[in-house]
Amino acid sequence: FWQHFNDEMRIRFNEVAYNAWFKNTKPLSYNKNTHELKISVQNPVAKGYWEKNLASQLIQSAYGYNGMEILPVFQIEGEAGPERIVTPEPRQPAKQTVTHHQNDEFTKDLSLNDKYTFDNFVQGEGNKLAAGAALAVADSPGSFYNPLFIFGGVGLGKTHLMQAIGHQMLAERPNAKVVYIQSETFVNDFINSIKNKTQDQFREKYRTCDLLLVDDIQFFAKKEGIQEEFFHTFETLYNDQKQIVMTSDRLPTEIPDLSERLVSRFTWGLQVEITPPDLETRIAILRRKAEAEGLTVDDATLNYIASQVDTNIRELEGALVKVQAHATIEKEDINVNLAHDALADLKLVQKNRGLQISKIQEVVANYFQTSTEELKGKKRVRQIVIPRQIAMYLSRELTDASLPKIGQEFGGKDHTTVMHACDKIKNQIKIDSDIKSAVFELTQMLDR
Ligand code: ADP
Ligand code: MG
Repeated sequence: FWQHFNDEMRIRFNEVAYNAWFKNTKPLSYNKNTHELKISVQNPVAKGYWEKNLASQLIQSAYGYNGMEILPVFQIEGEAGPERIVTPEPRQPAKQTVTHHQNDEFTKDLSLNDKYTFDNFVQGEGNKLAAGAALAVADSPGSFYNPLFIFGGVGLGKTHLMQAIGHQMLAERPNAKVVYIQSETFVNDFINSIKNKTQDQFREKYRTCDLLLVDDIQFFAKKEGIQEEFFHTFETLYNDQKQIVMTSDRLPTEIPDLSERLVSRFTWGLQVEITPPDLETRIAILRRKAEAEGLTVDDATLNYIASQVDTNIRELEGALVKVQAHATIEKEDINVNLAHDALADLKLVQKNRGLQISKIQEVVANYFQTSTEELKGKKRVRQIVIPRQIAMYLSRELTDASLPKIGQEFGGKDHTTVMHACDKIKNQIKIDSDIKSAVFELTQMLDR
């Protein structure tokens, strides 16, 4: 997560500012119970800047990234924090501590998130069919709806519901083998197993579980070898009457180049959509979240926040976290005015909510009289490179998609390529008036 935040900020700041605030700033430790994230900064100026300007973004970004709640505490390098335990041994070099914690706390993706339970899932218009199906599956796995395929937009609760099934199964059968994975993990595991000749272990891991949860399966698009492997995994589990649950941002038939036999197998069970929550559901979710956090937020404020974010529940929760951070920093109580101030900068992304990267590609391709295929392709001639970089830049500015996600949408490019493109265009805008006006006009076109 720290890396992710740094990448995000590297794009937002120029190099000098980035180095000043980030280069010598490092996470030291994270306490799971208190959520305290100790961060070492180089000097008092950096400490002040982080507390005033970056802390709330960090909180929000951590939350948005993987639901991690953090309470940043800044500590000037070399000065021991008040609660540091003094040991007689020589002090550990800071670097070592950092790596240790990163491995331990920052990159966990295989386990279930404690909070994603049925108890914590607010049912409402938009998700009640999916919730009902998930409950049915949890109740009798491997029988009715196999596979269960949950699809819908970003941040609507797909991962939450899927993991709730896992929790429920483990609550009833603590020894059950539940495997939750992001589809990319399956891809990586498979590739590694070929490289390391450990295919047996790979198959053991995936083909012998009681419940297989594969999140965001749209990333299997166009990957033939992976699809082939997943087909056999699927067949084995299905024949053993083991439950399979998948999520995706779209229907199987809409996943590019998904093999016929997978499409058809995915439809054997039940496909159920989650659609955006109505206002009432959004308020209920916020109220639940505020209670869980021990916050006092009056109805008017809940209503206000819920009215500001109307599609993505992760963003909705992020908005509450942001209001909370604002209140802490300003030392004020939470009320409508404060919420209004805290959320002022949500407007840009909000205004463009629902804007799809594919739409951006289409408009940019049209503008430069090239094609979306070329934008997603690998050609390195200037007439294509510039439009491609502009399209990546606009995807970054106008949607809330992450760098890897944007890379994915551009023919599976690496996130560093996207980062480079964004930096490049950001600089070009300052010195090249053609690029500046193109970006300006495109932004206007996309705003409509
Ligand atoms: P998706 O996988 O569809 O992108 P997530 O499952 O990650 O979305 O949900 C985003 C955030 O919103 C999570 O923190 C999740 O707990 C929360 N959330 C989504 N739907 C609900 C709901 N109905 N009730 C409570 N929290 C929800
Ligand atoms: Mg998800």
